[in-house]
Amino acid sequence: MTDQTPAPQAGTDHDQWLPDEPGLLGRVFAPVAGYGVTLSSIFRPTVTEQYPFIRPVLMPRYHGRHQLNRYDDGLEKCIGCELCAWACPADAIYVEAGSNAPGAQYSPGERYGRVYQINYLRCIFCGMCIEACPTRALTMTNEIDELVGPNRTGLIYEKQDLLAPVPDGALDAPHPMVEGTEDGDYYRGEVTGPTQAQVDWVRAHRPEDPTLATARTVAAPNLAKEAVH
Ligand code: SF4
Ligand code: SF4
Repeated sequence: MTDQTPAPQAGTDHDQWLPDEPGLLGRVFAPVAGYGVTLSSIFRPTVTEQYPFIRPVLMPRYHGRHQLNRYDDGLEKCIGCELCAWACPADAIYVEAGSNAPGAQYSPGERYGRVYQINYLRCIFCGMCIEACPTRALTMTNEIDELVGPNRTGLIYEKQDLLAPVPDGALDAPHPMVEGTEDGDYYRGEVTGPTQAQVDWVRAHRPEDPTLATARTVAAPNLAKEAVH
């Protein structure tokens, strides 16, 4: 086989890239030279994180545990479209959609995320999934210390592990959408809380629901507009 290495051109100093030969002192202290790094660092302030005794201060947009968000009336934002799962480079998300029904409306529109799983053994916290989500249902929190599990299966988070708590003054799902609205009204942020009709529906179907006691009703947005005009 022919040697393809080009021959050095005349006038090129190839030795300039080689380290200098150590002098006499360099050769004497070479075996203990590494201690110089230790000695120069020994009096510097300690930077070891004392977690979990002292929680680290994380940046506001730190990529921590995911969260499935809700609207202000308590309905879920996830519509089960699976865009987050398709965007995930690590194949860490699994979604199965379900159909909303008159007695079981979990999100505005036709469908909701019936099954939602994130496998934290695979997730690399890149945030591609939250960029792909069309309804801002999926965001990432600052939480890092809860990402533990008793075994490998325990690190596959289910929908109930990811779903945000019911907002203050809202009603837990399922319940009907705000009367007179469609899903676009929710996307535009026009729903600001539960209405009396939603409270009445939950009271009739789940009288023991604890969010009934804290629900704060607002006027339906479209009805309020009609009253102004
Ligand atoms: S953060 Fe990245 S790796 Fe983790 S679930 Fe989202 S897209 Fe997948
Ligand atoms: S979290 Fe967003 S992108 Fe993923 S299924 Fe739900 S709505 Fe679609």
